Amino acid sequence: MNAPYLWLEASWQRLLATRAHPAQALLLAGPRGVGKGALALAWAQALLCEAPRPDGAACGGCAACHWFDIGAHPDFRLVTLQEKTNKSGETRMATAIEVEQAREAIDFVQLSTSRAGFRVVLVNPADSLNSPSANALLKVLEEPPLKTVFVLVSDQPRRLLPTIRSRCTRLDIGLPSLETAARWLSGRQIEDAETLLALSGGAPLDALDWAADGAELDERRSLLEGLARPEQLDPVALGDRWKTIKPQTWHRVVYKWLGDLLAVKLHGSAQFNRDFADDLARLGKMADLAKLLALAKMQANEGRTLAHPLHRTLQLEAWLIQYRHLFV
Ligand SMILES: [Zn+2]
Repeated sequence: MNAPYLWLEASWQRLLATRAHPAQALLLAGPRGVGKGALALAWAQALLCEAPRPDGAACGGCAACHWFDIGAHPDFRLVTLQEKTNKSGETRMATAIEVEQAREAIDFVQLSTSRAGFRVVLVNPADSLNSPSANALLKVLEEPPLKTVFVLVSDQPRRLLPTIRSRCTRLDIGLPSLETAARWLSGRQIEDAETLLALSGGAPLDALDWAADGAELDERRSLLEGLARPEQLDPVALGDRWKTIKPQTWHRVVYKWLGDLLAVKLHGSAQFNRDFADDLARLGKMADLAKLLALAKMQANEGRTLAHPLHRTLQLEAWLIQYRHLFV
């Protein structure tokens, strides 16, 4: 098995070289959209495979590989965000990995292995461990049982407990070169790869996500067309029109828009929304730097509470009023 994505080859080889004596706690860190999750799964499978290839990669054909492929390997656990159903029957993704999940993983590693090989616990996204679950996991990371490997995956490793970070061997996964990413997207018949990559900060899987969701691209356009004309912006009308846009989409778009305004203000050119470069150049000059910094900071914090949009229309209206003030 090759690396899951061609730009991960060097990291993949570094992992494979350690297969006989793998790090018992590994942290795969790097921006979102570069394939850390796929790399972690490939590594877990390589460790569990019972007939690995000479380079250490999984064979893809043994019984262990088969179980892994169908999500049924008895010596593997994935600890991740779970869907939750509330009283009114709505299903939502939880915002944190709960302590019960961490405890279940700890119980699992205390058992003897089913197949006499490694046992692997994959925690993804590890920055979603809440404080009790992180503390529970820390105990077992301090003294992992024999032949047990923890793989933690994180876009925001600074949000992990420092004590967890210090227990882990860290492997940083960076962005591929723009050329590599653009070539990979073009190979998948994605049009306008460069605009999508700019929009995704250079992360190819994020760019692929944008390309796959035409509706989301339309929503982005609608949001940016509104934000590009602050002088005509009507907070009440827009708040009402935008209330149906997923908070995650709204956040992604707005966060990068504010980042671009800051970039224009500070260095003169936009990074993400190149298709709106003219508007950004004009608005960047008009914007008040202190107010812009304050709004961008607030937006960064809002990213953590997205799952609970109370009074969405009012929230959007208030935000838009603040946004309009940037340019007064
Ligand atoms: Zn195998």
